[in-house]
Amino acid sequence: MTVRVRIAPSPTGNLHIGTARTAVFNWLLARRQGGQFIIRIEDTDTERSRPEYTQNILDGFTWLGMTWDEGPFYQSQRLDLYRAAVQKLLDQGLAYRCYCTAEELNQLRESQRARKEAPRYDNRHRNLTPEQEAAFQAEGRKPVIRFKIEDDAQIVWDDQVRGKMVWKGADLGGDMVVARTPAGDEPFGQPLYNLAVVVDDMDMQISHVIRGEDHIANTAKQILLYEALGGTIPTFGHTPLILNKEGRKLSKRDGVTSIDDFRKLGFTAEAIANYMCLLGWTPPDSTQEIFTLPEAAAQFDLDRVNKAGAKFDWDKLDWINSQYLHALPAAELTDMLIPYWQEAGYTIDPEGDRAWLEDLTAMIAPSLTRLPDAVAEVRLLVGEGITFNEKAADHVAQAGVAAVYQGVLEALAQTSEDFTPELAKGIIKTVTKALGVKKGFVMKSLRAGLTGELQGPDLIGSWVLLHAKGQDGVRLQQALAQAAG
Ligand code: GLU
Repeated sequence: MTVRVRIAPSPTGNLHIGTARTAVFNWLLARRQGGQFIIRIEDTDTERSRPEYTQNILDGFTWLGMTWDEGPFYQSQRLDLYRAAVQKLLDQGLAYRCYCTAEELNQLRESQRARKEAPRYDNRHRNLTPEQEAAFQAEGRKPVIRFKIEDDAQIVWDDQVRGKMVWKGADLGGDMVVARTPAGDEPFGQPLYNLAVVVDDMDMQISHVIRGEDHIANTAKQILLYEALGGTIPTFGHTPLILNKEGRKLSKRDGVTSIDDFRKLGFTAEAIANYMCLLGWTPPDSTQEIFTLPEAAAQFDLDRVNKAGAKFDWDKLDWINSQYLHALPAAELTDMLIPYWQEAGYTIDPEGDRAWLEDLTAMIAPSLTRLPDAVAEVRLLVGEGITFNEKAADHVAQAGVAAVYQGVLEALAQTSEDFTPELAKGIIKTVTKALGVKKGFVMKSLRAGLTGELQGPDLIGSWVLLHAKGQDGVRLQQALAQAAG
């Protein structure tokens, strides 16, 4: 059997981490099985759907590295298909017109609540006579279409994640609305989610429906619709919810939920994609934590998707992100960092300074967890001159510091060779010896003089970079004036 899976986002917001994770699992299954991954945009809710959200969702999939084989298909362009299915259900007597008003349904719910019963439609319009229908119509009532759900129906499926699932028709809330009231003279209004999904999944020959566990009750309803419409029931698998630190479903209240949010925080696409695999899936080697999507696909199996909710672990994501940043070639990482430096207002010339920026990147890369960390990391190395912070100023005011700067400046004036780390270390050694002080004192003084602070990136590396810009001499002169003054 060809595996055909789909991701079916509703474009009512930017690409959500939950949707992206569901997409990842579908994509992994398709790639593992040599099947097809299909995108379907469920945009029938015209009030809440927006083209810019569709674009954001598609861009997000692309950014994360998920290519698709078919689509995007748009439900808004397929309404005729859904209407035909509703008509078929009506023709077969499997669906009917319900003329209940919102008020009547409210009263029903209230009385059920008073009796401490679960709210459900009581199927009261299931067997209206033509006369009763005509009377409602004469009142100006507009019907919805309800699909019959027998209380004693047994719905059973073998869930690929959760095992055998058994639902009773009685637990599905009564006969289900499959089409809204019509706006005008049409026989019925807009077909609804459960019906549209089944029509599409049948039409697109979807073999596996892999989606979040919040859809389990929908699956029970949809299986009844497959049976009614004569479709082949696909294999279902319900993935665990993503939970926040407190163990509750990750929601908008947690602040960061869209893929864009994560991107803006400075996570790479590879790290997010990698982490999403681990949100609910355990690779065969359960100690393996770093892999690309294709690497995960080579070993993906629904059997290893967990039932329990997947706790979102920021430390793990940070760690994974740092692994990717540390492994990136300097040129690629530089491209990613330049926008952050520019945004921070640093005076850098992305073209003229290219080689220097790559060296700078290579030096700070091991310290990065998220991309914006690079802003603080290079703060002391870009720009002209220095500003002493309090601790550095205190140090520079100490006796003997001016002599260090004099010694280093003299050594610099005498060097004509390439300024390498070895050369820098040599100067430190010479000055230390000549002044008869501790090496640590020279290093600390140099750091203060070159950067204006006592802490920062690797000292020798920083010095080499500052030298390439002619900044070491300038800064040490400034420091000497401060020390002597
Ligand atoms: N549009 C639904 C959602 O975004 C799709 C559910 C499904 O996969 O059937 O939740």
